[in-house]
Amino acid sequence: MTRFVDVGNMIRWAADRGPENIITEMVRYLEDDFRRWEEFDKTPRVASHTPFGVIELMPTSDHETYGFKYVNGHPSNPGRGFQTVTAFGVLADVHNGYPTFISEMTILTALRTAATSAMVAKTLARRDARRLALIGTGSQSEFQALAFRGVLGIDKLTVWDTDPAAIEKFVRNVRPLGFDVTVASSAADAVREADIITTCTADKAKATILTADSIAPGVHINAIGGDCPGKTELDAEILERGDVFVEFDPQTRIEGEIQQMPADFAVTEFWRVLCGNAPGRTSDDQITVFDSVGFAVEDFSALRYARDSVAGTDFFEEIDLVANPDDPKDLFGLIGALSPSR
Ligand code: NAD
Repeated sequence: MTRFVDVGNMIRWAADRGPENIITEMVRYLEDDFRRWEEFDKTPRVASHTPFGVIELMPTSDHETYGFKYVNGHPSNPGRGFQTVTAFGVLADVHNGYPTFISEMTILTALRTAATSAMVAKTLARRDARRLALIGTGSQSEFQALAFRGVLGIDKLTVWDTDPAAIEKFVRNVRPLGFDVTVASSAADAVREADIITTCTADKAKATILTADSIAPGVHINAIGGDCPGKTELDAEILERGDVFVEFDPQTRIEGEIQQMPADFAVTEFWRVLCGNAPGRTSDDQITVFDSVGFAVEDFSALRYARDSVAGTDFFEEIDLVANPDDPKDLFGLIGALSPSR
């Protein structure tokens, strides 16, 4: 049987454990997997682009467990009453190929993206960082806020979105959680006193959410919204002024902010910093940029964490997903036994 976490159980689990606790604990799983980066099969995700958006498959394996995520990105969806991003994911045993765990991943992706952002910022942001600017207050935004508080202790937020209703929703959701929230009048205004900036906007365009002249020395930028060919958020000059860190270089060249840069533009894969093989932040004046696109290993970590966390609880059910006849060669017998023509 395969363990299955549907949307209802994901919501019950996240509410019971608390999203901030989940994100904080998930960072440990992420760090474990980033530290053994070289053990994983890695490939840029397989993307199907259309004028509506993109549908992607994100596979990886550590040779004991295989995992993949199905995910879409449709920036025009909210205008039609749909989510921009939805997803589900699978873990399977490598030794026989049987799926062992399936989960909704729309919510789990928001948790894992926030956990990844916080893991990277924990290493790259200045130690005295106190204020987070959030540009884009859509689906990912509250999870981002919780991650930066849970992992870095930051509870001062300045926020900006072009949609006033999205800002209102964000403030309504996070003020009761104890955050000190300031609403800015523009992106440039939002980042003025920020130590860390998260950009999480959705627009299928080469947008310039932030210009280089608005970025102060010493800032850490967590750019998560530019994650598709033809979809970026940052002025290229910011990338030139800063040091850029990525998940998996071959995928980020296609999808990240650095798609704007020449093919030989220097970046550092984050796992190297975590393992002590490459420098991260080297001075208080340095601008560090995490050019995040979301990589399969992060989903693998999130699925592992969810699988382990729901074990022994009633936050999952068992589903009969794999036809498994007593005689492995008699698949037809399963149908034949019930067929009236037999
Ligand atoms: P969403 O559609 O729910 O929210 C996006 C918000 O951005 C909206 O409120 C919109 O009004 C705002 N926005 C658009 N253009 C803007 C601009 N110029 N200035 C300020 N605000 C602007 O989307 P979401 O689910 O929150 O995802 C946000 C982005 O993050 C998407 O582009 C998505 O593809 C990406 N994403 C990346 C990762 C990753 O791992 N890197 C993971 C999940 C989502």
